[in-house]
Amino acid sequence: MNFGTESELAAVSRRSFLKSAAATGAMAGGLDLLAETPGKYTGILIPAGAHPAVRSAAEMLAAKAGLKSDAIRNYTGAAKSRKSFIVLALKDTKGVPAELAEPIKRDGYAVQAANGGLVVCGARPRSLLFAAGETHHWLDRGDGPEAWTRNPEFAMRFASHHGEHSVAELVSILGATSFIAQLHASVSLKDEMPEVYTKLTAAAQQKLAAGEAEDTAKNATLVKEFHDADVEVFADLPYGNNFSRWSEDLYAAFLAVYPAAKGVPAEHSWEKAALCPSDPATWKLIEAYVREYARQSQADGVACTFWDQFGIFCHDERCQKNGLDQFKNELQAAITHYYAAVEPLGKKLHLRTWSSGCPHWLGNEYVHAPGYSNFSESHYELWSRVITDTPKEILIQTKVYHSDCEPNPRFTTLLGKCKPHPEIVEYQMVGQTIGRHYFPAATVNYTAWTMKKALELVGADGGAEISPGGTNQSNYNIYADILNSVDICAWRELTWDVSASVDRIFAEWAAQNYSAQAAPHMAKAMQLSEEAANLTWSPLGHGSATNSDFAGDIDRRETLLRYTNRYYLPEYAKTLEPTKENVALIVAEKEKCLAGIEAMFAELEAAKPGLTQAQADETATRFDWFREFAICNVALDMSLWRYRWLRAQAAMLTTDPEQLRPLAEAFDTVTAHAPKIFHYDPAQKFACYDVPLGQLRVKPNLGSPVRLMHEIHTKSLQFMEASVGPDYLPKEWIRAEVQMNVPTESPRRGL
Ligand SMILES: [Zn+2]
Repeated sequence: MNFGTESELAAVSRRSFLKSAAATGAMAGGLDLLAETPGKYTGILIPAGAHPAVRSAAEMLAAKAGLKSDAIRNYTGAAKSRKSFIVLALKDTKGVPAELAEPIKRDGYAVQAANGGLVVCGARPRSLLFAAGETHHWLDRGDGPEAWTRNPEFAMRFASHHGEHSVAELVSILGATSFIAQLHASVSLKDEMPEVYTKLTAAAQQKLAAGEAEDTAKNATLVKEFHDADVEVFADLPYGNNFSRWSEDLYAAFLAVYPAAKGVPAEHSWEKAALCPSDPATWKLIEAYVREYARQSQADGVACTFWDQFGIFCHDERCQKNGLDQFKNELQAAITHYYAAVEPLGKKLHLRTWSSGCPHWLGNEYVHAPGYSNFSESHYELWSRVITDTPKEILIQTKVYHSDCEPNPRFTTLLGKCKPHPEIVEYQMVGQTIGRHYFPAATVNYTAWTMKKALELVGADGGAEISPGGTNQSNYNIYADILNSVDICAWRELTWDVSASVDRIFAEWAAQNYSAQAAPHMAKAMQLSEEAANLTWSPLGHGSATNSDFAGDIDRRETLLRYTNRYYLPEYAKTLEPTKENVALIVAEKEKCLAGIEAMFAELEAAKPGLTQAQADETATRFDWFREFAICNVALDMSLWRYRWLRAQAAMLTTDPEQLRPLAEAFDTVTAHAPKIFHYDPAQKFACYDVPLGQLRVKPNLGSPVRLMHEIHTKSLQFMEASVGPDYLPKEWIRAEVQMNVPTESPRRGL
């Protein structure tokens, strides 16, 4: 190995993937297979002068096979199989037979076993990294005339960069072609807009100049790591398009020179108007910033987003007159100018189309969240001008979710409609709405059916994207997660074989993580977790909080019910009607949810004799976290539907005394179980964290169910009391500090 280059030194400071994989098995990709066949391969041969990605692939294979790095040797001349050697080659390497090279499509690879050795042939250098990441598919092949070919379904496979692992490792695990990375830049506009630069304070000027040198050096190192892995990288522009957030200093300096470019916001709007899109100076500034940012990043392209920080929703006279007070025109203008900034630099532009949640009030501000149909415009309508009126080479990425990223959401309505732009389907695998990956919660089934549909819509020249992680978690590494890494495995398998069976994905994942005795049970437990998580966070198909936490009050909880955007579909709207039938429906669903979690526990118990102590401890703790959370959430959802029923009854001047007892029982359940959520021993260590639980920078936490339960209970009682008076409510079902106040909207009592 060539220790000593900058990127390798940087890699040393990272958590060693191979080491952690050996310890935990998570995402090891065939480690066990190799361990079972010691000595089968004694060396790895690579072409002399090979691309760094080929060498990285050889190093990974060597580490997995327990070989020392001196077992990697160069060969010159023709690639041919040799007993006990793994020979790496590219399609154009001399000696590669046509029957091996020809079936390879795009950046796929093929493997041939002969003479007691293997020849692995890649379309290009990164193809061999892909092969190294999934040795379980090919390493145990016996000699035979047939080559085994592996071609990806999607031409483009995007992933977000994860700094804990080397790029080569990420490429091998994910089978990805392109990455989106946080590449920081200190944009000063010194050369681009000197009139603005001179308005900066001397301190700000110095800070930006110093930052530029440092950022440029750092970015060069990281970008080289991507290119050495034979993949491209896009720099993530600062979130949203609110320039006042991109740079406070530059924003103030700019307005000092161009005061007329300041936008006029709409009243009560969550979407802001830092700049006016009708003012030419606005676009001069934005193009200058994006150009300087793109240059400093040194990336192959720039990736942009617009929500949640939208900053050109301007309602001055100019914008009202020319239509630039409308999102679809603002988006088209912004994309056009971004493209004008990056295209002359030879860089690509990548656009994420998502907007957030569904239209709703947040405090006294209205979140427009356009693009989710019904009251707001359709997803296509919102992006229609970008699709038709911007250069067709701009990549358009759309979330597979027709909502933010709710559990089991509807399928997007935009995918397949953005041609002639290349389209990419996005998977935000951060566990955001299913417990942020604290709990066991698979999404494999969902990924399987949606990936198939997405491929039909975007076509094989299109792409799939993954951003793996754990929302709001600290110290967390999903690649080392012995439970939810199954979601990454599934994404990788399906982007390469959209027909891969869900059962096989679970089985292969489990085999890489657990002993042969435990694996089938862990596979089954995780398979059960998908429906259990959906039912925990998506009552009757409706939504929950974007970050999985308990809603603070009824008002917020009812807003969140709309987040899956199903509430206006007739079949779902029906389940929101305040009826006794719907109370029965939600009760049945929640019982099913808890039964599913108990079934997970039964599988875990069956797996335990085959688990290591650390695996048993971690899974027991995380399963328990899930159960305690779900018990509380289920009690809240059932109570909410009862409350809605009682509220409707009160509007009809009557009530339903039968609800009193189950509401009290739910109250007792929440009171008893709330303190048990996220119990742990501070010394315990999970595979997915780099420190023991007691040292996590962000403590595991999803809020408390108590406040919402109190409000539901209290208000439900008030509705009843308004009808029957205080004397007829049995005291044994009245909890805690409930005040028997007559609600103001109740009918007047007496004559
Ligand atoms: Zn304006």
